[in-house]
Amino acid sequence: MTAMSSPAAVLLIGGIDSGGGAGLLRDAETVREHGFTARVAVTAVTAQTDRAVSAIHPVPVETLVAQIKAACRSGPVAAVKIGMLGNAGIVRAVAAHLPKVPVVLDPVLASSSGTPLLDEDGIAVLLADLLPKTTLLTPNLVEAVRLTQSGGGPAPARPAGQAARLIAGGARAVLIKGGHGTGDLARDLLFQPAAPSIAFVGPRIAGRRRGTGCTLASAIACGLAAGRTLEDACRQAKEKMQALFEGR
Ligand code: PLP
Repeated sequence: MTAMSSPAAVLLIGGIDSGGGAGLLRDAETVREHGFTARVAVTAVTAQTDRAVSAIHPVPVETLVAQIKAACRSGPVAAVKIGMLGNAGIVRAVAAHLPKVPVVLDPVLASSSGTPLLDEDGIAVLLADLLPKTTLLTPNLVEAVRLTQSGGGPAPARPAGQAARLIAGGARAVLIKGGHGTGDLARDLLFQPAAPSIAFVGPRIAGRRRGTGCTLASAIACGLAAGRTLEDACRQAKEKMQALFEGR
């Protein structure tokens, strides 16, 4: 009997948002819309509404590692998207067990309602252990500042300086998203070493929409899984996200 192999999958590592606005439910929806199978490794279960996070339960590290191993045993994994991590132990375990495929890391530091979703030690381990293993880091303007403040010192003032610091710290590429800026247009900037930055500009999505960061990073992971260049994957993901959220 011939063993049946599953279609290529994107592995989603992140948290469950009970409201479904963000997190793994949103990621899985995006991955399926792109025609890939979604496999998941849950880092934390959260109870939240659009207004508040009322509970966070981190998954034990052994259970998380078992999920990643099972996901990789189930069939080929073509890319990984990482979202909420929660704490340093989880970040360390994820960094140690990533398959060798393109990795998109959305550095989720807090919910839109203001609750931290990664603790201080977790941020330090993310920078030290996980950053060098990512193909693309996708911070928003607030996260880019937070990730480049060092030892209490200020962050570089502009996205180009922030990206340069993150690339010096091991990131292979950084997409700084302009969604938290002002004006009618949101401008995302892709920085890669020794190359001019590339801007992706689109209409600002109206209101405070949850899950835009998850959707964009998952869509980019799908583009990389399909063999697109980073530039094409980012461009198509932004167009797709814009179309999805305008339709809602
Ligand atoms: N909760 C979980 C589990 C998430 O993964 C994320 C983002 O990835 C958030 C909350 C934050 O999403 P938002 O900024 O839309 O509140």
